[in-house]
Amino acid sequence: MVRLGRPEGVPGAAVNPPVVLSAPFHQGGETAYGRDSNPTWEALEVAIGGLEGGTAVAFASGLAAVAAVVETLSVPGVVVLPGDAYSGTRRFLVDLAGRGRLSFKLVDVADTAATLRACEEVARQADSAVFGSGGLLWLESPTNPLLAVADLGALADGAHRLGMDVVVDNTFATPLAQQPLALGADAVVHSATKFLSGHSDVLCGAVVSRRADVVEALAARRSLHGAIPGPWEAWIVLRGIRTLDVRMERAQANAAELARRLSEHPAVVRVLYPGLASHPGHDLAARQMRGFGAMVSFELPSAASADAVVGGLQLLTAATSLGGVETLIERRARWEAEEHVPPGLLRMSVGIEDVEDLWEDLERALSPSR
Ligand SMILES: *Cc1c(COP(=O)(O)O)cnc(C)c1O
Repeated sequence: MVRLGRPEGVPGAAVNPPVVLSAPFHQGGETAYGRDSNPTWEALEVAIGGLEGGTAVAFASGLAAVAAVVETLSVPGVVVLPGDAYSGTRRFLVDLAGRGRLSFKLVDVADTAATLRACEEVARQADSAVFGSGGLLWLESPTNPLLAVADLGALADGAHRLGMDVVVDNTFATPLAQQPLALGADAVVHSATKFLSGHSDVLCGAVVSRRADVVEALAARRSLHGAIPGPWEAWIVLRGIRTLDVRMERAQANAAELARRLSEHPAVVRVLYPGLASHPGHDLAARQMRGFGAMVSFELPSAASADAVVGGLQLLTAATSLGGVETLIERRARWEAEEHVPPGLLRMSVGIEDVEDLWEDLERALSPSR
């Protein structure tokens, strides 16, 4: 994190990679045009690839990365994905399905047997040379916003046996907490907008794979569709990655403490955090992850009581998104695409503030009469 993607350490050279702002490059070299490659993206790709243990291809946003993966599927494609997958991913698949480009099936990825049964129903004769030709299993773990934990190794094994390819959106866990390629995934997707950049000031995405055919197909998608990261954005993300470990250490410790205190609060119906022993995926998460992440969801009895809590907060910020240094909170069911989420469920992206400041604010908002 701290060292990857820096220029060669020769006397007089810059310690940091430069932000290279040029559309064309002098002919005769490796880089010709800024839609195909750029030295600043490449520095970022070295860092993200190094963290996930593969080769990274950077994109303009997380959803551009998601789209590039899905667009590599031959038509008509078939995708199995979590019922509570990231709403942008679901909306994109709904749009493509509506135009006959693919079909998809929603599953509960915490249920390994049910997920593999669904895969069995849709898996097709695969051409191992063509990514996703046997079908694609799309995984998130922990899921958004219910924080269910999927057994990535068992699901990747099972899907591969059926001839399917496997992609994991690792945005919530980060490569520090979880390494899907090592567990058998063919590719990993990131919204670098979130924890990787870490300061809620940029949109960026990436896909990482160890398969040369997948990396080549994704780089081709990026040139064809033009969903490229700006050099400045790439640099900002790389700058954020330098402190990922220390940010995550504090944010995870804060998340664990807030989850514990919330679970003891009489106004809270339930807390969803894989680090709690009461979470159904706790043992699996403890084996599969290093740390339990900084996302905590908790449920109030109703939409009105949850809105009242959010309205009573002074320090926590009511906003969507996640992964920044500041704690963000929102009632997820306020979004149309999140109808399956309990109405009183609040999703909190825990930041790096002093945990006592966060708790004081939460406790005041939860017990307004005090
Ligand atoms: C935010 C998010 C995305 C989409 O990323 P953008 O950078 O907003 O385009 C994809 N997956 C997950 C899990 C996310 O949280």
